[in-house]
Amino acid sequence: MENQKFQMTGVLQRRNPVGTALPLMFDSPHSGNTYPTDFAHDCPRENIRWGEDAFIDELYETAPARGAWLLAAEFPRTYIDPNRGLEDLDPDMIDGSWPGDIRDNPKRDQGIGLVWRNAGAGVAFYQRKLSIEEVQARIDGYWQPYHAQMAEIAGEIQQRWGRRWHINCHSMPSPAFGKTLERDDMPKAEVVLGDREGGTCDGAFVEVVREAFEAEGLDVSVNEKFKGVELVRKFGDPANGCHSLQVELGRALYMDERRIEKNDGFKALHASVTRVIGKVADYVSAEIGA
Ligand SMILES: [Zn+2]
Repeated sequence: MENQKFQMTGVLQRRNPVGTALPLMFDSPHSGNTYPTDFAHDCPRENIRWGEDAFIDELYETAPARGAWLLAAEFPRTYIDPNRGLEDLDPDMIDGSWPGDIRDNPKRDQGIGLVWRNAGAGVAFYQRKLSIEEVQARIDGYWQPYHAQMAEIAGEIQQRWGRRWHINCHSMPSPAFGKTLERDDMPKAEVVLGDREGGTCDGAFVEVVREAFEAEGLDVSVNEKFKGVELVRKFGDPANGCHSLQVELGRALYMDERRIEKNDGFKALHASVTRVIGKVADYVSAEIGA
């Protein structure tokens, strides 16, 4: 029997389907909070913890019981962000000349590229340049293993079913908390779905997920501010039956954003997400005629 859990401590945790598997995967690239000992940032830790999509892995924890794979990072995305391409590094952060390719990216220019430079509200992450070796070690030890697991799961699904559905799981600061970060552009919606304007999954899948969250009484918008970034771009290929959708849950629904603690809403949202996962699994089952 297949191992149900695979863990690289401090890097990632992968859980395989329990029981009958479906061509369905969830991943939580930003919920990690195991800070590597060599993460020598210069600003206080409390200035950067808002970068965590705290508790998102826990909100989706019932996915394997519904036949889906669930991958979650254990490292913080501010150290290195698995939802960015390697080309999204800011070369000005590096001591020396970065040997890899670099591409233009507005998120990098905001200081939230592959390696974060901006802690929000004008707080600088580092007072120094990062060495090439230091960044390469983050890529090799954290970014690559995460992408390798994504590719392995996606490849196994592709091989077994020839089609795939993927939900890339995130959370977003509330508009009120966003203001404290000097980011006044946070959506008012409680849930934002992102398919890069139709580029990463078919519209029917978006509607299934939208209706499932709306049935929970939540206010849902699509491609508002959060349109989907690297992981849905890389793994979504709707013309070939591979559907990737980004889901952002408003943090105020389930946590105290300042203290990074669950609030009274957590239990209800967990139950809602569990029902959404059930509806998504039913949809995928019907699509493959299971
Ligand atoms: Zn995120």
